[in-house]
Amino acid sequence: MAASLVFRLHDRGPEVVREVLLERGWEEYDEEEREEEDWNLYWRGSGFRNSEYHNLLPWQRLNHHPKTAGLTRKDCLARNLRRMKATLGSALYDFSPTAFILPNDYTRFLAEYNKLRVTRGPSVYWICKPVDLSRGRGIFIFEDIKDLVYDCSVIVQRYISNPLLISGYKFDLRIYVCVKSFHPLTVYVHQDGLVRFATEKYNLSSLHNLYAHLTNTSINKFGPFYKTEKGRVGQGCKWTMSKFRHFLHSQDIDELLLWQRINNIVTLTLLAVAPSAPSCPNCVELFGFDVLVDVKFKPWLLEVNYSPALTLDCQADITVKKALISDLIDLMNYTLTDSLRERAYQRHESSFHANHPSHAKPELSKVKEAKFQKRRSGHTSQTLPLLKSLCQREKTDRRQSRQPFVPGYHPLLPPVVLHAARGRIINTAATETHTDKTLNLILGPHSRTNVLAVNRQTRPALARRLMDSLHVSEVTNRDDTETEAETALSAETDVSSSIRDIPQRRLGFGCPAPSRKLPNIYSGNHRPAKLPLDRTVAMNRQHVPPLRVGGFVRTFPFNAATLKASLHELDVRTVAQELHKLTAQLAASEEAVKEDTNGEEDFDSLLWGPEDPPLLSQHVRPP
Ligand code: ADP
Repeated sequence: MAASLVFRLHDRGPEVVREVLLERGWEEYDEEEREEEDWNLYWRGSGFRNSEYHNLLPWQRLNHHPKTAGLTRKDCLARNLRRMKATLGSALYDFSPTAFILPNDYTRFLAEYNKLRVTRGPSVYWICKPVDLSRGRGIFIFEDIKDLVYDCSVIVQRYISNPLLISGYKFDLRIYVCVKSFHPLTVYVHQDGLVRFATEKYNLSSLHNLYAHLTNTSINKFGPFYKTEKGRVGQGCKWTMSKFRHFLHSQDIDELLLWQRINNIVTLTLLAVAPSAPSCPNCVELFGFDVLVDVKFKPWLLEVNYSPALTLDCQADITVKKALISDLIDLMNYTLTDSLRERAYQRHESSFHANHPSHAKPELSKVKEAKFQKRRSGHTSQTLPLLKSLCQREKTDRRQSRQPFVPGYHPLLPPVVLHAARGRIINTAATETHTDKTLNLILGPHSRTNVLAVNRQTRPALARRLMDSLHVSEVTNRDDTETEAETALSAETDVSSSIRDIPQRRLGFGCPAPSRKLPNIYSGNHRPAKLPLDRTVAMNRQHVPPLRVGGFVRTFPFNAATLKASLHELDVRTVAQELHKLTAQLAASEEAVKEDTNGEEDFDSLLWGPEDPPLLSQHVRPP
């Protein structure tokens, strides 16, 4: 019987994650029935402990990268963006409102406040936010410094007082960003975020009315006008991003530049922390970027949310968040080997004990037996000590045999026979058991990338290609490790045959993150083998992460130069220059959209925004 994938939710939530995973055929972790480490995905709203990152096993993934507070704490973000502004110039980093961290920056704030009073008069507004609170708690807006009262660490930010309004209501955009990896930086933005409205009309003469000035759902859903029809906004306080796009189209607004600017904000913000982020290939992170658009269509970054809310308050939430989680799971690219947890574990144990004969073997089955015994007969005096000692031994052994953050997968994998066949490496052990049923278990019947959705009768070529891409993924386990030998082997073979995302996208089929062999630089620990130029080019082609996974569109790397700049140590300056060029080109030339670019920029990056995004190369004239 095919094994299923197992998820573990901390504190029983969030419900939408459970729902999506159960629909996809996953099983929920039950600590009474399963080993402590018998799971594939651990989802927590709060952060994981360092030891949890260090003790990760190959088949396990976490929904947070370590050490991301540099983005998600308001004061840290302000500090990081200030530093980037000083290094790369305020022209590039002009997307976040000027901010001061109080009490430390009080003197600087006072100087700026007084300067603006003289030059602009009293009509400059400020917003004060506690640094470590969320959901609008503790926030107030003020014009006069005598109203600034605080008793904890806060940031005081320029208040964007000219927001774009719809029917007189303020709104902001919740953009969902998945950082698939920090090393190399790989970023996806989901096309269908949320638009969050205030529920009372915007009015600068009532700064105390939070229902008019804050767009947090946690506040507005308790507002007196939440259920009232509010002009074009309608009832409630949320739209899907698709609805917002239709609105923009109905107003004849060209949204392309807006989305590109938002993408730039995401990339530039992540650049502030990416070089110092630890490498943890088994982690992904879903961030919520809050962006306010002003009347001039300039997007401003308000903050970056850790664990963006996944509660389902209304239809817009259901539509957006269910697809979001489903696409995130696809992006994690679970493969057949991930479901073979126990088999991998046993192999690991036997190889460990072959090398350490003096240790008694803590078989998984023995631990399980002891646990079942405990459940059947209560905590008997015999089973409990046995269970404890087995678990303790097991933990000590594992601690000794693990590497921090980047586990060495290969000794732990199920038996694999490697063949170079038709330019691919095939895991024969897994291929033998590959049935439609197991494929569906991995992708899940509700995956938006269901292999079986491709009719083998009517579209045999596409069906074969999808099956092939899964074969490739089995040996790679996931996108992070490759031995030196395999690197060399992949360079010998025709690697281009495993680049599958581009033809798939052109077929208009929502594809899974097609797995491919990745070079060992992805593991973060090793230096890449030096290869002759032509081989490196071939391998570079192979590194390109998929363009699109469900509604997730890759926004970084976005061209050949940024791909190159991200492969080793992130070259922040080159990335910044490329972003600058890209925006300038987009802004300068509407004509370029219509002209044929001859495909000279062969990196098939997408622009994010419209329903069916065009290729970036079709929009930007090559320099
Ligand atoms: P929280 O983490 O408490 O939600 P935010 O920084 O997201 O804090 O602010 C809450 C809301 O306040 C935002 O959704 C937005 O509507 C409004 N807001 C925050 N900062 C600004 C600003 N600088 N200018 C205008 N509105 C802002």
